[in-house]
Amino acid sequence: MRDRLILITNDDGLWAPGLEVLARVASRFGRVVAVAPDRNRSAVSSALSLHGILRLHPLGEDRFACDGTPVDCVLLGVRSVLERKPDWVLSGINHGFNLGEDVFYSGTVGAAFEGALQGAKGAAFSAHPSADLEKVEPWIETFLQRWENLELGPNRIWNLNFPKAEPKGFKLCSQDNRQYHNIVEKRMDPRGTPYYWIGGDLGPTYAKSAGSDAEAALGGWVAVTPLHLDLGCPETLAKREAFDTTFNGNGE
Ligand code: MN
Repeated sequence: MRDRLILITNDDGLWAPGLEVLARVASRFGRVVAVAPDRNRSAVSSALSLHGILRLHPLGEDRFACDGTPVDCVLLGVRSVLERKPDWVLSGINHGFNLGEDVFYSGTVGAAFEGALQGAKGAAFSAHPSADLEKVEPWIETFLQRWENLELGPNRIWNLNFPKAEPKGFKLCSQDNRQYHNIVEKRMDPRGTPYYWIGGDLGPTYAKSAGSDAEAALGGWVAVTPLHLDLGCPETLAKREAFDTTFNGNGE
């Protein structure tokens, strides 16, 4: 299917090495249009720029830098640059893992979700910061050759994390839990006024629960995690009776 239309973006910026690799792999599957932030916009999640103008800078054929967020890039790409809805929206390859709760902060993941919301198949790709992207490339190619064979419902994406070394294979994963330490660092500026730096200690502790993305990616596998934009809580919804007694009862 050479007429497949593929929008790619990331949150590390248009010039990040990961986007170049993603563009190269994706080009084997269709026409690739890159719309990506003009600077590093990591950890902006699904942020939208509602209170400022956006500019698109054409930088050659099917290549645009945008001064907005990753989600802005997807929206401008789908609604303004492309002449029709893309078949795929691919985001990454992010410099660093997006495991566990990272997916809530990640602009890489946010962009893939926006692709799904716009009706495309969405996937987010992230790799260990020391991973050799040349070695990641054939694994992405294999994934893209096969991912349409496995149905994923609406508002869902695939979140892939590539390990540091040559992967042992693909592993279907759940979302792990992770904890960052000393995340807010307080320092003093030269005039004696405090300033703060978020993400001072970037080494999180993962729960590495059985079957999770962190267990897989840190164990040398490509962690393939299906994610759903519905953040609802089914086990609590099942307690409707207890809810009604608690909130609509006589309070005794
Ligand atoms: Mn990033």
